[in-house]
Amino acid sequence: MEDRFGRTIDYLRISITDRCNLRCLYCMPAGGIKVKPRDEILRLEELLHLARIALQLGINKFRLTGGEPLLRRGVISFIQALALLPGVADLSLTTNGVLLTHLNEQLWGAGVRRLNISLDTLDPVKYRQMTRGGEFHQVWDGIMEALSVGFQPVKLNVVALNQFNDREWVQFARLTYEYPLHVRFIEIMPVGASWELAGSHFASSRQVRERIEQALGVLDPAEAVTGNGPASSYRLAGARGTIGFIGAVSSHFCDRCNRLRLTADGKLRPCLHDQREVELLQALRSGASDAELQDLFRTALLMKPANYHEATGAPANGRGMCQIGG
Ligand code: SAM
Ligand code: SF4
Repeated sequence: MEDRFGRTIDYLRISITDRCNLRCLYCMPAGGIKVKPRDEILRLEELLHLARIALQLGINKFRLTGGEPLLRRGVISFIQALALLPGVADLSLTTNGVLLTHLNEQLWGAGVRRLNISLDTLDPVKYRQMTRGGEFHQVWDGIMEALSVGFQPVKLNVVALNQFNDREWVQFARLTYEYPLHVRFIEIMPVGASWELAGSHFASSRQVRERIEQALGVLDPAEAVTGNGPASSYRLAGARGTIGFIGAVSSHFCDRCNRLRLTADGKLRPCLHDQREVELLQALRSGASDAELQDLFRTALLMKPANYHEATGAPANGRGMCQIGG
């Protein structure tokens, strides 16, 4: 599908749950969010139905996210079914990694080959602080196991934050010498719970890159790592993995945007920075035909703004990342 600005939209990020087993400072309020009652969340067969509609329209890359996608009951059989839909070219998952040691093998068996794992610190005490209670070693063990199971690429998403993990940027970069990991530093975006942190702790991709180059030498541009993301990739001389920077704030990549987002409660979201959404759950449950559902996808496509300046803007009390899926 092409939008009004000639961008090819072939990628759907599906948030399969709004629930999470962590409470990251930049993503959730301390008390968590008010999750939707189960009957207001898309059932797995409804998600599959919508994935089929997306495929009919030429969307062939899917990423499962959340909340924490691995918490969703039935996630493995859902992935199996999704992977078997004719035309699926790419299927990946973004996870906080807490449940990976239980699920790596099953995810592989279900057809997932690429994983993005979020990890903002290598210090167990800070990890507990950042996630309000998470256990670093659970995630680290899951990452090591994912590498040995054979996922490729395994990407680590690190939200770069001054006065929080700035002393660890170099340590994260060093991991790429030892492991074939793709460490991606992400600029914090002021969305939902993150407004305050995004103001006080913002670190730019440029700042992170300079810090790493000062310590470890020049970063050479690397071949793009498989995926649908906007990261620019680099490699340290002799490293097995790569280092990427997602300048979500300092260098908007709206001109390369290739995606729509589907929220767990069945709304199609044309742009992360735009509060407008297209309601799909009600349409599905009131018996909309495939043609009508296709039209709703096209409506969302036409609503995509040219760039974030033209987005209507998400209010501070609007949906957070854990509800939109990142
Ligand atoms: N729970 C899963 C996880 O943490 O990977 C999937 C959902 S989470 C919302 C997806 C991604 O969004 C994570 O990598 C997280 O670090 C990132 N994220 C959340 N809030 C963010 C913010 N305000 N700015 C930048 N990235 C953010
Ligand atoms: Fe949960 Fe992911 Fe948000 Fe952390 S970033 S609170 S793990 S949804």
